[in-house]
Amino acid sequence: MNKDTTEAVQKLLASPQKVVIVGHKNPDGDAVGSCLGLSFFLKILGHTTTVIMPNDFPDFLKWLPGCDEIIIYEKEVQKTSEIFDNADLIFTLDFNSLDRVGGELQAVLENATAKFVMIDHHQQPADYAVATYSDVKMSSTSEMVYHFMDALGQTEKLSKEIAVNLYTGIMTDTGSFRFSSTSPTTHRVAARLIEAGAESAIINQNVYDTNSPERMKLLGVALNNLVILPEMHTAYITLTQNELDDHNFKKGDTEGFVNYALSVKGVVFAVIFIENKQENLVKISFRSKGDFSVNDFARNHYNGGGHINAAGGKSSQDLNKTISEFISILPRYKNKLTDAL
Ligand code: 5GP
Ligand code: MN
Repeated sequence: MNKDTTEAVQKLLASPQKVVIVGHKNPDGDAVGSCLGLSFFLKILGHTTTVIMPNDFPDFLKWLPGCDEIIIYEKEVQKTSEIFDNADLIFTLDFNSLDRVGGELQAVLENATAKFVMIDHHQQPADYAVATYSDVKMSSTSEMVYHFMDALGQTEKLSKEIAVNLYTGIMTDTGSFRFSSTSPTTHRVAARLIEAGAESAIINQNVYDTNSPERMKLLGVALNNLVILPEMHTAYITLTQNELDDHNFKKGDTEGFVNYALSVKGVVFAVIFIENKQENLVKISFRSKGDFSVNDFARNHYNGGGHINAAGGKSSQDLNKTISEFISILPRYKNKLTDAL
């Protein structure tokens, strides 16, 4: 975090503040871990904090220290709006523009009178905060929360609760320290978190070894639906609403499925299309290897975004139309896909 941002944050936190911390819609391990880690830290500094998520988060995160106190906006619209009205400061974590919280909550944030602080590692950060700590090279927002503590000269305040939350966010957002965003510093931070009480083996078990039988069967369906387009170095997976319903789908169940498509030899671009009849859209996740920017692809065609190698978006066409359109777009990217590695 640079000097100006650090000084701005120090000023904002000079006296006890009522702080709200918000993550993005469909919160993942990094969103939840970074928000909870920051919340514990700001509490130690004497501030009052509330963590708010736009909608529910996956069960594999429902053991994180402090997760019981998270307020889900969708479930408590009135209460949440009042909390925002009374806030002095709103920290937005792990997203780059206010539309990432979705629908009505976006309007609540846009109308809020509190000052904003952004901590985020996504491309193209919007300019709504009085202090913006944005770094697209960072592995995760959770790693950034550690650097945020460091910039304030407060790493001695690192508690076990903070460490476990931040470690979980870093681990999940780096695909267990695999993705190219994982730097030597990421490992140094992870080491510090382990020293402060984050038990890696237990965190791994809690996150990765708690699958429901239905989820494993759904993975079987997804793998059966895998389509490989060798000419385009592309592989995609589809899941229909019926297939989800047949397997008692719960939020988070499809997390990581797209990586199986990316794991195919020669594939540099992997996509999963997931039908959502309730929201009348198809949610899409993109992953890539090398230089092929799925952030650009998602922005150009699917009203989305993210990082170079991991992004998301959506389509309001039905699933079949979405797929046929996707296939028709691909040839334009043939050169980039061929040269990605
Ligand atoms: P996932 O595919 O795991 O949902 O998301 C991958 C990355 O893309 C995450 O960093 C996530 O924040 C971002 N992302 C996912 N969906 C969207 C979207 O609809 N819009 C934008 N701007 N980013 C997204
Ligand atoms: Mn993240």
